[in-house]
Amino acid sequence: MATLTRLAEVPVSEIKWLGPKNSAPLLKAGITTIADLLHHVPRTYIDRSDKPRLDRVPLDTEVTIIAEIKKINTRRPKKKLSITEAIISDETASLDVIWFNQAFRQKSLPVGTEAAFSGKVTSRNGKLQMSTPVVEVLGDDEESIVTGRIVPVHPQVGSLKPWAILRAVRIALNRSRPIPDPVPAEMLARKGLISRDQAFGDIHFPESLDRVDPARDRLVYDEFFRLELSLALQKRRQMDDATGFAHTPTGELAGRFVAGLPYELTGAQRRVLEEIDQDLREPHPMHRLLQGEVGSGKTVVAVAALLSGVEGGWQGAIMAPTEVLAVQHYLGVTGLLAQAELSPEPFAASSGLGMDSLFGSDGPAVHIGILTGGTAAANYRPDISRADLIADIASGEVDILVGTHALIQEGVEFHKLGVAVVDEQHRFGVSQRVMLKEKADAIDPDLLIMTATPIPRTLSMTLYGDLDVSIIDEMPPGRTPVETKVLSRLEEALAWKRIGEEVGAGRQAYVVCPLVEDSPKVEAASATAEHDRLSGLMPDLRVGLIHGQLRPVEKEAVMSEFRAGEVDVLVATTVIEVGIDIPNATVMVIEDADRFGLSQLHQLRGRVGRGRYPGMCLLIADPATEDAEERLAAMAATNDGFVLAQEDLRIRGQGTVFGVRQSGVADLKLANLLRDVDLLTAARNDAFGIVDQDPGLTNHPELAEEVRAMLGESVEWLFKS
Ligand code: ADP
Ligand code: MG
Repeated sequence: MATLTRLAEVPVSEIKWLGPKNSAPLLKAGITTIADLLHHVPRTYIDRSDKPRLDRVPLDTEVTIIAEIKKINTRRPKKKLSITEAIISDETASLDVIWFNQAFRQKSLPVGTEAAFSGKVTSRNGKLQMSTPVVEVLGDDEESIVTGRIVPVHPQVGSLKPWAILRAVRIALNRSRPIPDPVPAEMLARKGLISRDQAFGDIHFPESLDRVDPARDRLVYDEFFRLELSLALQKRRQMDDATGFAHTPTGELAGRFVAGLPYELTGAQRRVLEEIDQDLREPHPMHRLLQGEVGSGKTVVAVAALLSGVEGGWQGAIMAPTEVLAVQHYLGVTGLLAQAELSPEPFAASSGLGMDSLFGSDGPAVHIGILTGGTAAANYRPDISRADLIADIASGEVDILVGTHALIQEGVEFHKLGVAVVDEQHRFGVSQRVMLKEKADAIDPDLLIMTATPIPRTLSMTLYGDLDVSIIDEMPPGRTPVETKVLSRLEEALAWKRIGEEVGAGRQAYVVCPLVEDSPKVEAASATAEHDRLSGLMPDLRVGLIHGQLRPVEKEAVMSEFRAGEVDVLVATTVIEVGIDIPNATVMVIEDADRFGLSQLHQLRGRVGRGRYPGMCLLIADPATEDAEERLAAMAATNDGFVLAQEDLRIRGQGTVFGVRQSGVADLKLANLLRDVDLLTAARNDAFGIVDQDPGLTNHPELAEEVRAMLGESVEWLFKS
């Protein structure tokens, strides 16, 4: 009898039968403990009782036969051709098997080997033959042969064969069982989940195939349950550690701001603002994720939230992932405030960046500053120096500060930071979130994290499980969906023609250059070359260029030219992926679109169709893989980011989806985020329920230990006092 916690401490080398030679591939694959081994579950099962006897095997249809190798032999009639022929038989009859250019079969299937052969049996001149079957060796020891009706087939690990793994698992299970169950019985009963001990037994050695699914469900539930417990603890911990405060929004600024917008907020925006307002009034700090499709109006909501804080005398901050975006936010926010006549005198409605408007104001004024690696400016004082701005942030003169990482670097101290907005969170790590919080000294600001990355609900539950989530699921009225077409390289002229037409009508275009993984330098060079080529192809148009190797000021100069309509076509790398908002741009051409991931393509496409004019996205690609073809087809089929995210998860698998590497998702071995939504939801409710009642898990020590043992050092801090 051994708990899973204990089994997570016992090295696989304890299974003496394995020996160092057989342990090596396991260790290499990360299967280091008995608990790891028990989670290495069969990938399929062969039901021996069901298998056709050779004397009655149906022809020309997929079958699996269990038989023994009686004879095997390889010949080479030509230089590049080997033919391996075998005779296999069971108690009833025998059959010829043939493989082409698989000479290794000769070695891997010595006479006497029992194996499962899957393929089609055909009759040739009255002789039965199976050509190129898939083979599962069942084992050369008597133990695996007498296993029973159902033969589990474990995934091979390096050179370690399925049957050897099966044997190791059997030894491990025999020595560990019964495995005690730390999950409260009434919780299991409610969901009809079987015991943990039975689950491990049945997943590896089911008596019948219908035992497998319940076993799997239970193990998946456990994976989710541990993950969600750690998230619940994390959330609890954040709340306990936090010294929050209750904001007292009056609506004096936020209300005026909303009223001053040239449009009505959508229902979804109003609902989300309500949720945020509620959080602000609570004494513990907000940790809220604001999810919404590109262009759904998150920024407006965020500004209103910041103003709710400013009303009570607090400062606000917006952190953007890039310089360009920070500048854009700054221009956007100063513009929005000017509209609502919330800009300061005497530089009314001035952004300090040379984009003054005509509005003045006598009412309350909001002081906004921007501080990035390359820019320091403010709307209340032209030509402010960096040092003065930093001093004004510290004194509280600045109400809202927009910035990049520079904002959280040494030297910037707030007077009274009350609300912080982090835009496009996937560019930031959790540690940066924590650092931002620490900027506020003893008091934790309310935190709003905005993301346009559409994440399937199941994934956001696990990625951001410690956050509350608000979703803007409604677009402002009047948007037309972007039309998307896939063009082959041979058809590229159609794209340039289309750009010409749009520019002729007064619009602008983006051309996104091929992605060069891990080499911004090469990417910049190829963008530069493409810029030159396209300038030649479109001699009448003003073609600009932006890439990641430009200095921040250079980037901002290009963007402001494009914003001002002085450039018709902007050739760009993915630096324009996030958040760029230029409503007059209506066409986006993405070159070698098959090299981009789905979420990235969707983000890029979000740059067009943002204004009154319908947008068009042209994907130039000659996809070389099926995955790439599916991605492009998905892009052409829908504009719905959530649908695309779901597709992405399906095509790529959960291990590779953005951002999961640093989350617990990587630890999920059996669970599937698409298929197991119900189990995830159940596990989440149970986990948060337990932590609600028992915040330190003091009444559930076995659970606490298990979370630690299975999730490793990343959760260690949760248990420190
Ligand atoms: P997001 O940050 O979600 O990508 P933004 O807040 O930048 O979206 O909004 C995109 C554009 O839509 C902006 O030009 C903004 O002024 C405008 N907008 C926001 N909310 C509305 C609304 N309710 N009605 C009309 N236009 C809106
Ligand atoms: Mg935005």
